[in-house]
Amino acid sequence: MANVAAAPRRARAEFLADLISAGLLIPSGVDGAYGRGGTFEAVRAAVDAFVTRRSLNVRPERMAFPPVLPRRQLERIGYLSSFPHLAGTIFSFEGDEAEAAELERRVGAGEDWGGLQRQTDLVLVPAACYPVYPAVAARGPLPVGGLTVDLGGSYVFRNEPSCDPARWQMFHQREMIRLGAPDEVAGWRDAWAQRAVEIVGELGLEAAVDVATDPFFGRSGRLLARSQRSQSLKLELAVWISGDEPTAVASFNYHREHFSSVFDLREAGGEQAHTACVGFGLERVALALFSRHGLDPARWPADVTALLLP
Ligand code: ZN
Repeated sequence: MANVAAAPRRARAEFLADLISAGLLIPSGVDGAYGRGGTFEAVRAAVDAFVTRRSLNVRPERMAFPPVLPRRQLERIGYLSSFPHLAGTIFSFEGDEAEAAELERRVGAGEDWGGLQRQTDLVLVPAACYPVYPAVAARGPLPVGGLTVDLGGSYVFRNEPSCDPARWQMFHQREMIRLGAPDEVAGWRDAWAQRAVEIVGELGLEAAVDVATDPFFGRSGRLLARSQRSQSLKLELAVWISGDEPTAVASFNYHREHFSSVFDLREAGGEQAHTACVGFGLERVALALFSRHGLDPARWPADVTALLLP
């Protein structure tokens, strides 16, 4: 495999400008919210399909969910304690005609109209796996041997506007979930971390897996991060995309009994199940490929396009 150091290292602003002028990304005017051109989408879909071809999963169950979640589920999971700064909550208008007229006036005057909105029962999905746990728990105990769920590429939202071309507010996670016995779930998570290094390595990307932490909020969040790190609950696969630091393009999360205690997920024999999830940031893998091999896939190394775009 070619050494990543041989690739030209771009600053983040320069790489973003190049992606836009090549028509790969379409700016919206808000940092981290991008449209994508056809070439970018073809590469993103090809990465998704390549992960499927290299998958370790045995007879996964396919599920798909919209990018919204009942607000009550986000509350039960504890997301608003750990990540209040990242959540996206859906508000809408439920007023009368007088309030509608006031809304229109404020919009026309460029005033804040948020006070005329009410919170709905829906939030944006911040992690693609969240809808899976209550859905599986509602069926009763897991089957013998546990369960693997494959969600395909699913939209998630994080409130983190940034001019880093790899940090998007809404993007696709290719997410897979394992539910079952503790040893088996932890082993699946670790095997996927190794497989992911091989997957991106085949595509010419030099990557490393390391212990990581989630961006927990505030002072109590620092304690959560320390505990997460000391138990190696979160691993990340990092690849250089632009700027000075590598960027995480996939994560491998062992939740232990966190979700099963919230939703009462049980193994076939009645024991409390453990869960883990694996998520590839599809846009980030695509960006890493454009960064490494150039902005025109027609000029990428033949062995990479043969694997990715056969
Ligand atoms: Zn997940």
